[in-house]
Amino acid sequence: MRRVLAAAVLAVAVQPLAAREIAIGIRVTGELRLGDDAVDRARQPTEHILGAAGLDVRWLDCRGDRADEEACQRPVAPDEFVVTLLSVRSDRDSYGCGVSQHPLDGTRGSFITVYADCVRDGADRLHVDEATILSVTFAHEIGHLLLPRGHAFSGIMCGWPSALDWQRAERGGLLFNLRQIPLLRAAALARQQAALALAPED
Ligand SMILES: [Zn+2]
Repeated sequence: MRRVLAAAVLAVAVQPLAAREIAIGIRVTGELRLGDDAVDRARQPTEHILGAAGLDVRWLDCRGDRADEEACQRPVAPDEFVVTLLSVRSDRDSYGCGVSQHPLDGTRGSFITVYADCVRDGADRLHVDEATILSVTFAHEIGHLLLPRGHAFSGIMCGWPSALDWQRAERGGLLFNLRQIPLLRAAALARQQAALALAPED
């Protein structure tokens, strides 16, 4: 009986993670000079982090000659995040390699900037793949735009990840926690519904 109950509890706990009907878009723009194909390789670990929270990802690559001009010129949808990759950064004061922009009027934020020199320095200093730092930065900044403001003490929303956290990230173990996941999914679902309401009817 106890075993059945435990299995039932586990099923309830795992079920929301298994449902993948909520998707967000990530539109990558700008220019980022990193080793080989770090940005392409960052896709899979980004999908892993967000997928563990039950979010699917649609990518739109608007970098240089890869850009699908028509798609890249479309207005940004409510369920879409625009990541601008910059080759340099003017200040090195903040800890993270990314910045997300929150509109002052409380409306949805959709814009994220990621700095290449920070990603490169972090990879050298921490001995982790640039793609790992990129994927953690993408997911962390999207987390800032979907979750209540602020950092957590541990996990992907930690503001000051330790070397151990980065090793965990390399193994795909730096994730959103169980308290953040329902909030993340609810916010993403609200954006998805807003996007559907705006979509032109066929
Ligand atoms: Zn942060």
